[in-house]
Amino acid sequence: MSAFHWQQQGTDGAARAGTLHTAHGDVSTPTFMPVGTVGTVKAMTMDAVRSTGAGIVLGNTYHLMLRPGAERVAALGGLHRFMDWPGPILTDSGGFQVMSLGALRKLDADGVTFRSHIDGSKHRLTPESSTRIQHLLDATITMCFDECPALPAEDEVIAKSMRLSMAWAARSREAFVARQGYAQFGIVQGGTSTQLRAESVAALRGIGFEGYAIGGLAVGEGQALMFSTLEATVPLLPADRPRYLMGVGTPDDLVGGVQRGIDMFDCVMPTRAGRTARAYTAQGQMNLRNARFADDAAPLEQDCDCLACTRHSRAYLHHLFRAGEMLGPMLLTWHNIAYYQRLMRGLRSAIVEGRLDAHAAALRAGWQSGPPAPAPA
Ligand SMILES: [Zn+2]
Repeated sequence: MSAFHWQQQGTDGAARAGTLHTAHGDVSTPTFMPVGTVGTVKAMTMDAVRSTGAGIVLGNTYHLMLRPGAERVAALGGLHRFMDWPGPILTDSGGFQVMSLGALRKLDADGVTFRSHIDGSKHRLTPESSTRIQHLLDATITMCFDECPALPAEDEVIAKSMRLSMAWAARSREAFVARQGYAQFGIVQGGTSTQLRAESVAALRGIGFEGYAIGGLAVGEGQALMFSTLEATVPLLPADRPRYLMGVGTPDDLVGGVQRGIDMFDCVMPTRAGRTARAYTAQGQMNLRNARFADDAAPLEQDCDCLACTRHSRAYLHHLFRAGEMLGPMLLTWHNIAYYQRLMRGLRSAIVEGRLDAHAAALRAGWQSGPPAPAPA
């Protein structure tokens, strides 16, 4: 088995195409990682996830430590075996989730004490315990435990939080057990301040990680500010390491992120939208609850090879949501993940063939064209 590394196969402007080599297999980049928060990509079997071409999925430390417990997952053979995903898994550190608990958590210089959202029981996460839990889960990619303030915030608050995260990054690295084909990513913080982002990158590069993530974006600052922060930050990262933009985003965010040199993304959007009848398509979003689809015999998308599109009509999907049948969320989640994977494959080809800007412009024009007209039965 070779060491964890990212190999570049092509570039177009700031965008890169490549392959991530890991202990659990290779992943083509740019890549979108479906979110499997509690050891399942909601409403999907892992065979369905695989069939979309997804190469790597996400798990979450906060949720898995509370239920079923990291020790239990380890005893049952690790998260790969537990959830039937032999491929690479990236685990979030739990930092973002515990920070979102608001009144249920208490932050100190050493870590975070919090109450479980499930039963109110008291728990504690530190850089060391988060790293240990991710080890027990057998995460292919372990994330540093960090703090992420909600935006907008005063520069001083963001600076203080970023420096705490950098101290925690050093402690996370210290606690990480290096294994062949495994990796740990540092997380760049600093809000939308280019100066603080640069300071954060320098601190992380000083520690040294197998990959680098950009955290603390898509938290309310807006797309323009997110993109300009990426433009200032990404060029500071080492060119030979994978770059991961955390928690992003819409198809348009992904295209913009790729154009600015990001290799990896994750977001709950496609899965969450699928459960609420919203489909992502080449012609923008469609709400399958809409009465206009009640008699529409056409497939959701003509060129999509997912089960929802190859075997069913928009009218059937509409019926499933109207009737409250669980197959509706299952089929639409499947479609949305398939759409996101197709989007990433298209971007990758465009980078390799040196036509990314034209491809991106065509994608954006398609999304603006609006949902297709209903087809007669
Ligand atoms: Zn489809």
